[in-house]
Amino acid sequence: MLEWLKTDVCAMNLALVEEGLVTQTWGNASAIDRDTGRIVIKPSGVPYNDMLPEHMVITDLNGAVVEGDLKPSVDLPAHLVLYASFPALGAVVHTHSHFATCFAQARRAVPCLGTTHADYFHGEVPITDALTAEEVADGYENSIGKVIVRRFAGLDPLAFPGVLCAGHAPFAWGRGLMQAVENAVVLEELARMAFHTLMINPAAAPLESYLLDKHFLRKHGQSAYYGQKG
Ligand SMILES: [Zn+2]
Repeated sequence: MLEWLKTDVCAMNLALVEEGLVTQTWGNASAIDRDTGRIVIKPSGVPYNDMLPEHMVITDLNGAVVEGDLKPSVDLPAHLVLYASFPALGAVVHTHSHFATCFAQARRAVPCLGTTHADYFHGEVPITDALTAEEVADGYENSIGKVIVRRFAGLDPLAFPGVLCAGHAPFAWGRGLMQAVENAVVLEELARMAFHTLMINPAAAPLESYLLDKHFLRKHGQSAYYGQKG
């Protein structure tokens, strides 16, 4: 079932390692086939060197395994909440990439300090609230998804294609697999640039709103004109 998607999701997980976003097995990527409502996700704890498309696990939107011999990633419930709450998403990536994780641990949003950032995020990279003791005790991974959704009240997840979970690490996503991986790579680089910018000038101001809008909106939305017409 969904052999093509298993191949792509396996490649997507390996791409995160190649991009330097994943150390050990600290990361997971999934995709959804919206026609069937099936999610394909990396198995839990399998070394990347040995990972093959047939190891991918297929579940339904409730997390029930539909196909696969291995257990799905423990973070599956967070991915499921994001797919259910954000219908535009086709793929979700979770990593503990260094600089984005540092911002998450410092409990700071990544401010939009330049146009590189504005090409991808229509403002700062949001940070969630911390989870409460009850949320951790009662369905921890599901709570991670819910605290992200709560942070996105009034925010378009395609205009902010990633988030920092306070005290934890980033999630990124996209309409498709390639876009989700790209956004995870970009999020890490934006965090790295912001870190160094703030070292050079701790008082660096956020990008002017008119420049933020110009850069974001020329690439995204109704009036986008960047790139070639598809
Ligand atoms: Zn994590």
